[in-house]
Amino acid sequence: MPGKNAFTGKQNALPAGQKTGRKERKMTYREYNEAQRKKWIGKKVMYDGAVYNVVDVDYNGALMIDKSAKFTDTTAVSISMIQVIEEDQTMSRDWTPEELQAASAAMKEAGEMSYEEFTAEIAEQEAKQKIEAFAKVQADGDHFCPRCGRMTVKDRKVTNAWSRHANVYICDACGTDEAMRDFAGVVLPLKDWAIAKLPLIPLGGRA
Ligand SMILES: [Zn+2]
Repeated sequence: MPGKNAFTGKQNALPAGQKTGRKERKMTYREYNEAQRKKWIGKKVMYDGAVYNVVDVDYNGALMIDKSAKFTDTTAVSISMIQVIEEDQTMSRDWTPEELQAASAAMKEAGEMSYEEFTAEIAEQEAKQKIEAFAKVQADGDHFCPRCGRMTVKDRKVTNAWSRHANVYICDACGTDEAMRDFAGVVLPLKDWAIAKLPLIPLGGRA
């Protein structure tokens, strides 16, 4: 509260916004730090090609991000070293094209993937999820080949080919095709698998 400081005899600092007759007093460093913390804590930032959460702002103005360092769970990074990821942009398939574009630009800036590579990566992740969901329920007598989409998988699933690119059984023809493609260095992306192109049928019958 305003009043004389007992030691210096000077007027103590006034609460923010209160006029002193001259100008409003300047923010104390403590208040500045508080404001910075309010601004930054909880924000997602891109640093060194990956996304982290800001957990604190230290007294040097550096952002503490949840990147594990040698002795701590956080890493201090300067604001100039990061890119801010806007609030509701999270790694999910619900991103709008605009959001993807923005995130892609940030990644590109950070020397990471291009937009095309990024969207291909998202599609690849989605395909992987579908294949894994299928693999969980793949059973003997299940003839559908998740890779080519034909009914070419043999009765006993373990007698079929085990994919080199996903943890699932595929038909022998696909097994051979994978081997040839690996040899030639032209791997078929998971997103081009038959199952990736099917609408995702939720397990347990939920719509
Ligand atoms: Zn196949």
